[in-house]
Amino acid sequence: MASEQTQAVARRPFLARYWFDVVLWKRILVALALGTVAGLLLGEAAVGLKWMGDVFIRLIRMVVAPLVFLSIVSGIASMGDPRRLGSIGVKTLALYLALTVVAVSVGLLMGVVFQPGVGMSMAGAEPIAAAKAPPSLAEHLIGIIPTNPIAALAEGQIQSVIFFGILVGLGVLTLAPRSEPLARLFQIGADVMLQIVRFIMEVAPFGVFALVAWVMGTTGPGAYVHVLKLAAAVAAGCAVQTLLVHGGLVRLVARLPVLPFFRDITDVVAIAFSTSSSAATLPVAMRVAERNLGVGHAVTSTALPLGVTLSMDGTALYVALLAVLSAQAFGVELHAAQYVMLVLATTLVALGTAPVPSASLFMLAAVLQVIGIGAEQTALVVGFILPFDRLLDMTRTITNATSDLSAAVTVAKWEGELDLDSYLRRPVE
Ligand code: ASP
Repeated sequence: MASEQTQAVARRPFLARYWFDVVLWKRILVALALGTVAGLLLGEAAVGLKWMGDVFIRLIRMVVAPLVFLSIVSGIASMGDPRRLGSIGVKTLALYLALTVVAVSVGLLMGVVFQPGVGMSMAGAEPIAAAKAPPSLAEHLIGIIPTNPIAALAEGQIQSVIFFGILVGLGVLTLAPRSEPLARLFQIGADVMLQIVRFIMEVAPFGVFALVAWVMGTTGPGAYVHVLKLAAAVAAGCAVQTLLVHGGLVRLVARLPVLPFFRDITDVVAIAFSTSSSAATLPVAMRVAERNLGVGHAVTSTALPLGVTLSMDGTALYVALLAVLSAQAFGVELHAAQYVMLVLATTLVALGTAPVPSASLFMLAAVLQVIGIGAEQTALVVGFILPFDRLLDMTRTITNATSDLSAAVTVAKWEGELDLDSYLRRPVE
């Protein structure tokens, strides 16, 4: 029997046996390791590999806008009762907010423990001005309403696409049963997008390999050494937030075993790490939530797209940490009142940070101004950190992704939308 099986395996083509039959997350992890080695060996020459990473990122960003739109509409249309949207939405938003506040506190704590800014000299830094003053909260909220939804889709403005998608979904839901054919059409459309993600993920190992090689070759782990204390604080903070807070949420609040959670999301972690972009990670996260974690479509399709911009725990933690670093570097004393202001300001900033590489650095000005650090000093901090930011960004983007997934699993459990068998099962591909 065993030998028959061995023969059957031996008959399979080489490429199938050593490539397609190996589960994707293992291929991606190997690519990550090989990319690191290649980057360290090649050094600056690793730039030559970057095109492969760019191809992968473009492929995956290509599906973001249609996937978000179609799945939000179909997710809401499948809820059956408009009140369910309220219940899922309120719980998701409450969790996101709570997680962000915890993340900011962890960031502040890490700043106090590691003291990354003490004795820091910004003398060699080229000042880099943050982008124009960030819009006020009211402006930001009003800006979410698209004047032209097609333009919002075309330009990939995620929050506006979500806003329009929610309304279309509600329209379809409340016109049932007449709107059923349309609901089915949106559902099939969303499935097709997820299928495209599946195709794209077949090139993920190459993309991950190239991106990691490029970062390691051009910045190298040596970059960490220059900002060692900051890097240690970011790594420790992200580990605390992901393993203890997000893991704790799954274990204690959702009351689920935590190992399957971390095992099932390996693809997401690898993609977040290599692309440094929550937007590029979203399609993979949606696929993993439905296929590996057993989160129902209604929750996946609403919680994850919302989370991509609203719930950025790694970013929140990082911005809070940089605020403490800047205060230490410029000798600004922080008292309880300032810490409270920092928590508020950083939470708001984290809600509005774009899900793309290095976005949080350019939001720093809004936070630093509440502790009296002006534009010129902020420009110095940004200039000092930007050259090393990529590796830190890779780390915090993982935490951004795990915050969405842990909240989605928890809301799904509360709402009876979690397929436990699927959650406990090993991912099949
Ligand atoms: N790169 C982060 C993300 O896309 C944003 C940031 O913290 O800079 O999630």
